[in-house]
Amino acid sequence: MLNNDITLVSCPTCQTKTAWTKENPDRPFCSSRCKLIDLGAWASESYSIPQQTSEEDEIFSDDLNVDPNKSFL
Ligand SMILES: [Zn+2]
Repeated sequence: MLNNDITLVSCPTCQTKTAWTKENPDRPFCSSRCKLIDLGAWASESYSIPQQTSEEDEIFSDDLNVDPNKSFL
């Protein structure tokens, strides 16, 4: 009877039927591996987050080295 409450979904990455439960933190994916594969595919299509982050880090460290009062005078 309790099994009727479990919703099965198809993993978007590998199409494996997986249970949509609180015990599955990676739902609707069957595993964290499939989750990472899907996120990786999405990220490489739309964004290059690691690159942008490192560029912004460099800009930020440059700003921190410059005293804003001195640059205005
Ligand atoms: Zn999967």
